[in-house]
Amino acid sequence: MRQQFDADVAVIGYGPTGVIAALSLAQQGAQVLALERDRDIYPRARAVTVNDWTMRIFQNLGIGERVEKVIDPQRALRWVTYEGDEVMRVEHPPSALGAGSRCYNIYQPVMESELRSCAQEREDLITVRYGAEVTEIEQDDSGVTVTTTDTDTGEVRTYRTRYAIAADGGSSRQPDPAAPGHPAAR
Ligand SMILES: Cc1cc2nc3c(=O)[nH]c(=O)nc-3n(C[C@H](O)[C@H](O)[C@H](O)COP(=O)(O)OP(=O)(O)OC[C@H]3O[C@@H](n4cnc5c(N)ncnc54)[C@H](O)[C@@H]3O)c2cc1C
Repeated sequence: MRQQFDADVAVIGYGPTGVIAALSLAQQGAQVLALERDRDIYPRARAVTVNDWTMRIFQNLGIGERVEKVIDPQRALRWVTYEGDEVMRVEHPPSALGAGSRCYNIYQPVMESELRSCAQEREDLITVRYGAEVTEIEQDDSGVTVTTTDTDTGEVRTYRTRYAIAADGGSSRQPDPAAPGHPAAR
């Protein structure tokens, strides 16, 4: 078993969770290898709101002011019909966390792009491989072997890290129900 590590932690998936995981680890001085299947940020809006807990995380990472420039404070939430009749209104109280606003409107592709720019500035500790789909993970007593397949060329590579974080989100591969450890296999 190879004992030389390519990084301390492999972060699998580089959406918002993966980027924040990478930045948090880099803040602690860990070497991170982020492996992302897609070459570009998913181009459509999904999340439309983040709250002050999320802002606190950004602030703790020292990127709060930068992210605030690409998101908007949400003072209230108002639902209206096409005719303009108000059906619901929620006024947000001020943040109790000292984070500014209680809620923020976001356009996810823009926020993700800013997060990735912030992480790019930690390239001393964060390496990102795009187009690298993780196809296999094997854990042993001393670490993890992560296998990727290049989404264009099909080239297979393996990386050895001490730990791996699965940040592969909603499009995560479904586990094989016949695989050892799967509840259905018991
Ligand atoms: C319609 C809709 C509305 C939503 N509204 C909100 C909202 O208002 N507020 C909110 O907080 N959230 C909302 N969400 C959820 C929000 O979009 C997700 O919480 C957010 O994108 C999760 O980030 P993530 O990094 O965990 O996962 P993702 O954004 O899914 O990122 C995972 C990444 O992992 C990569 N990946 C997957 N498998 C592999 C693999 N095998 N190898 C390498 N890379 C891989 C993917 O390409 C992707 O880039 C909404 C979602 C949807 C669909």
